[in-house]
Amino acid sequence: MTDSDRGALPGSPEAGAAAEARAPRIGVLALQGDFREHRALLRALGVEAALVRTLAELHAVDALILPGGESTTIARLARSSGLWEPLRARLAGGMPAWGTCAGAILLAREVPGLDREPLGAMAMRARRNAFGRQIDSFEEPLAVAGVDGPLHRAVFIRAPVFEALGAGVEVLARLPDGRVVAAREGALLATAFHPELTEDPRLHALFLDLARVAPTSAALARTSGLAAAPEAAGAAG
Ligand code: GLN
Repeated sequence: MTDSDRGALPGSPEAGAAAEARAPRIGVLALQGDFREHRALLRALGVEAALVRTLAELHAVDALILPGGESTTIARLARSSGLWEPLRARLAGGMPAWGTCAGAILLAREVPGLDREPLGAMAMRARRNAFGRQIDSFEEPLAVAGVDGPLHRAVFIRAPVFEALGAGVEVLARLPDGRVVAAREGALLATAFHPELTEDPRLHALFLDLARVAPTSAALARTSGLAAAPEAAGAAG
């Protein structure tokens, strides 16, 4: 796969049609955390991402990155800014999304210790701060499914691990001890680590691929008045 055919999956008619219709508009949830770093890496790939802080900004994007930071803070700010329920609805309606660390925690269906319900879009449990205080931050060279070439030097900071994965959830990367740190369910991507804090844009390229082949969710959301049925929930198995 090369940069010039990024996202094309040339053999796939849907992919071609979607890409020809319009490149998906990528947003980065910018309430707290390392959203600037995500935007910078996307820019390195030639994609100008929109920062999302308001309902109008959420409606204007087709796919969303939820950055690393502090999941409780991001959730609190999303609620106070009126974004939480619309976010849930967009995710239920099939909007491609990628959560890194805190963002992945919010995407999960079950999060022990979170002081509120997570967004619940991905059928898995995110165990927060899974590495304890002594090694709350480390790097690990990781093989990630869908990422060709050298190992990704994954940066973990008070990271979660993903457990109790639903049948529709595909493991993309594990630590040497077997714990799952990257997963995908349809057009949803979760990484316990922070590609945005590295100079390796391959995970961002992977997400752009997912966003490009997914049906244009903004169109879905518009036609459904944002009240899309959570069709993925029952169909995951
Ligand atoms: N431990 C944080 C949380 O629970 C996540 C840390 C991070 O995003 N680097 O939200």
